[in-house]
Amino acid sequence: MVVTAKIEKLEDGKLVLKPDTDISRFVEQKRPRRVEVRLDDGRTISVDQRRKIFAIIRDISLWSGHEPEELRQYLEWDFCSRAMREWFSLSDCDMTTAREFITYLISFCFHWGVPTKDSLLTQTDDIGKYLYLCLENRRCAICNRPAEVHHVDRIGMGMDREKVVHVGLNAIALCRAHHEEAHRREKALFAEYHIYGIKLDKHLCKILNLRSGEQSSEKR
Ligand SMILES: [Zn+2]
Ligand SMILES: [Zn+2]
Repeated sequence: MVVTAKIEKLEDGKLVLKPDTDISRFVEQKRPRRVEVRLDDGRTISVDQRRKIFAIIRDISLWSGHEPEELRQYLEWDFCSRAMREWFSLSDCDMTTAREFITYLISFCFHWGVPTKDSLLTQTDDIGKYLYLCLENRRCAICNRPAEVHHVDRIGMGMDREKVVHVGLNAIALCRAHHEEAHRREKALFAEYHIYGIKLDKHLCKILNLRSGEQSSEKR
């Protein structure tokens, strides 16, 4: 069993750990006496990043039917070849590479509509890029269901929606239910999930059909 944990303290050569998940049943049944501890050094891939990568690959594996190990190798190869980068190892790559690989995996899931056990909001390691991918793929930033575009910067009264240039305005992708909730309690909802609106660029406006306003799904 592999778990991640928070270091509570190190005192008199003793390390006190608080596991992120409940391990009491496992400990009771298997009575393990020893553990292996891998310490994050803030530069190489973290335990959390590795856990996220394996969780997403597991979801992709359940969806595609490929063996996780075989799939991981294929996805690493695809990630490297697309970005023209050197081969890396998940055991000792740097944090930036791990972060970019997680973003690549999230993008893969959105692109192919891979159903995931948890919302990818819980797996992302780069919230800004994640919020961008949600808009690009019209997926709710909270639950990943099909989404509408919510403008965080209100388009003022009297401004013609058809003529408003959306580039530079802040927006976020939200499903119908979360969109309605955002109109009731935006601040609290965003704080709860640690999400925010990001600036729309030309690419997003184009795929979201925003400049023309034709398919703008924002309700007034
Ligand atoms: Zn809205
Ligand atoms: Zn939602």
